[in-house]
Amino acid sequence: MRAWQVVRPGPVEGGPLRFTERPVPVPGADELLVHVRACGVCRTDLHITEGDLPVRRPGVTPGHEVVGVVAATGEDVRGHTVGDRVGVAWLRRTDGSCAYCARGAENLCPASRYTGWDADGGYAEYTTVPAAFAHRLPPGLDDVAAAPLLCAGIIGYRALRRASLPPGGRLGLYGFGGSAHLCAQLALAQGAAVHVMTRGAAARRLALELGCASANGAYDAPPEPLDSAVLFAPVGDLVPVALRALDRGGVLAVAGIHLTDTPPLHYESELFYEKELRSVTSSTRADAREFLALAARHGVRATTHTYPLSEARRALEDLKAGRFDGAAVLVNDSPARH
Ligand SMILES: [Zn+2]
Ligand SMILES: [Zn+2]
Repeated sequence: MRAWQVVRPGPVEGGPLRFTERPVPVPGADELLVHVRACGVCRTDLHITEGDLPVRRPGVTPGHEVVGVVAATGEDVRGHTVGDRVGVAWLRRTDGSCAYCARGAENLCPASRYTGWDADGGYAEYTTVPAAFAHRLPPGLDDVAAAPLLCAGIIGYRALRRASLPPGGRLGLYGFGGSAHLCAQLALAQGAAVHVMTRGAAARRLALELGCASANGAYDAPPEPLDSAVLFAPVGDLVPVALRALDRGGVLAVAGIHLTDTPPLHYESELFYEKELRSVTSSTRADAREFLALAARHGVRATTHTYPLSEARRALEDLKAGRFDGAAVLVNDSPARH
């Protein structure tokens, strides 16, 4: 099969990704073999390609927003059959036995493993997934539309919960890419006033089209104080900017897996009055279930830009340069070989 591999992490323009010929993977006893139909392009893939995240599997195939069809099942798998449509997301495995897993915080499991980082992901014709971590997708959503929901959507949902947005509250979103534009739709469906601060003119236009109350530059102040904010841009300089925009008692959630260093915080204007600064770490399978159900109910839809699988590098370059609004999705149009 054809698959992309990160051969030597570095700036994506320098060619750290190679499109190679590899054997179709063999699923483990508790795993599914999945014929990839579509795979979303997430900023985390760029961080893995460029070496912002440490190498966990040399030569890894990125991609953790996979929509595909089960092509084979391991011998211990029950409840999935060949031909089922499934989604493969970032969280791939946990130990299921630690204190975090026991209290429903499997996203914090120290033994957790991730698709497209610890194990090969969806920038390929086939991938594998433990059956217990494969997601059932709402019918009525096509493959390309469903792909960005599997990381961008789920993380946006978790970030929104971490930001403790009150009903009808005032929400600020810093950065407006794949995750933020899905998060905005959920918040709007729940009656929030949403203010977007982002550098891209196309992203600001999309924000207003979706019904956001305002769209301004990344460092601009929103037109009203915020109850909650989510920082999607991986830019630490925006942390004090977003904290200053909060009303008393407001909460800022940092959604990214990677953030540049934050400058020193000024206590009186940025933290005092019980403002809270929180991070978001991965997500749980329960987040995924809840989000996919909400997305189906509220008609949350990703704005997508498709690329053939063979053009993954161009998709990542375009993501890095901010050349599209919404989310990029790779489409594998090679037929199943199984
Ligand atoms: Zn655990
Ligand atoms: Zn992701």
